[in-house]
Amino acid sequence: MIVLKFGGTSVKSAARIKNVANIAARAAEGDPVVVVVSAMGDTTDYLVKLGRQISRSPNKRELDMLLATGEQISIALVAMALNEMGHKAVSMTGAQLGILTESVHTTARIVDIKTDGIRRYLDDGYIVVAAGFQGITPEGNITTLGRGGSDTTAVALAAALQARVCDIYTDVSGVYTADPNTVPTARLLKEVAYEEMLEMARVGAQVLHPRAVELARKHRLPVRVRNTFDPEATGTILRGADEMEIYRPVSGVTVDRHQARIAVLKVPDEPGVAGEIFSALAEHRISVDMIIQAFHRDRSVNDITFTIKRDDVEMVQSVMEAVAQKIGAEGVLTDEDVAKVSIVGAKLMDQPDIASRMFAELGKQGINIKMISSSDIRISCVVSDSDAEKAVRVVHDLFHLEEGE
Ligand code: ADP
Ligand code: ASP
Ligand code: MG
Repeated sequence: MIVLKFGGTSVKSAARIKNVANIAARAAEGDPVVVVVSAMGDTTDYLVKLGRQISRSPNKRELDMLLATGEQISIALVAMALNEMGHKAVSMTGAQLGILTESVHTTARIVDIKTDGIRRYLDDGYIVVAAGFQGITPEGNITTLGRGGSDTTAVALAAALQARVCDIYTDVSGVYTADPNTVPTARLLKEVAYEEMLEMARVGAQVLHPRAVELARKHRLPVRVRNTFDPEATGTILRGADEMEIYRPVSGVTVDRHQARIAVLKVPDEPGVAGEIFSALAEHRISVDMIIQAFHRDRSVNDITFTIKRDDVEMVQSVMEAVAQKIGAEGVLTDEDVAKVSIVGAKLMDQPDIASRMFAELGKQGINIKMISSSDIRISCVVSDSDAEKAVRVVHDLFHLEEGE
């Protein structure tokens, strides 16, 4: 069997829903098919805004209840379109699909999928049209998986049903060396290693949800990223690094423009203070990215700086002010004018001069670097948000990513 997933732009209108139904019907000629769909167009954004007009920080259970409605509209319409073409099709919500999640709202992780219900329909010859992005807790509450989470629904269903492939259809032709909508010279990658893709997704390549890539890697599931509006094209395939045919030190450049930087100033230089800061964040389920502890001329204190999601700024600011007081730090500083530009490549470490070339080139182009971090397969620089797009293009050019494989 196969799983096909269609994002918001692919189901934006009645005409596009018919196009999706066509692609699904064609696939169903060869295999049993599960079609996962997102909410139509910008519906989820609209619902978030609507919720905020009622409450500045809406109750998260109710927010999930609201957001999950978006996908329910699309599944009904896609199932109707398939019926209209003479196919047996049935729409199913997260709860009906048996997608069990943790009891955490707005960023729940899938813990199990009870596939009996889906299998029964597939065995009866139905095309199953599944709502992306949503699940249900053991207590029966509706949850959502985090923005962009329909990709994760698709990969999780594909793994649970042992699908031979999961096709993620979107509005570009696959995974590129950079976002093709900001870097016109970006090149389509025929294959990407799971590890690279996971890193790219975590640092801003919106095209796949990080959790979806994580699941695909865990199950060694072939995932293809393809274009809804050019469905015959092969797109990009994710595979294990050991199966990659192509050698390249840098695979892509990404930018994350939803970041903020927080500094806790003049933290006393004593054992346990970093523990206090980061446990307080963990308690509020805030994920922290880069962390820098810089020492002061006055050796008894340090500044501790880290990056977070911009959406979390208000909460983190108040949590950190309380912690700062408790540990005797001077205060808390926030900087929202930041963007994180990263290069990712499975073979990055093979060329030790890559980092220095990246920093030198950004400097030459007048782009100031505010923070740096790196891993085996990634180098990230925090720059001013207004420099973000330029920085991506500069780095893309520097490593000649536009050139063929
Ligand atoms: P969908 O609604 O289908 O899930 P998304 O908007 O979530 O689509 O993801 C597709 C978008 O991801 C593209 O339109 C593109 O702008 C963006 N994107 C960012 N980085 C990349 C990349 N490296 N390759 C392809 N697309 C990318
Ligand atoms: N509709 C949800 C969102 O906009 C899930 C998705 O599109 O993947 O985030
Ligand atoms: Mg998406």
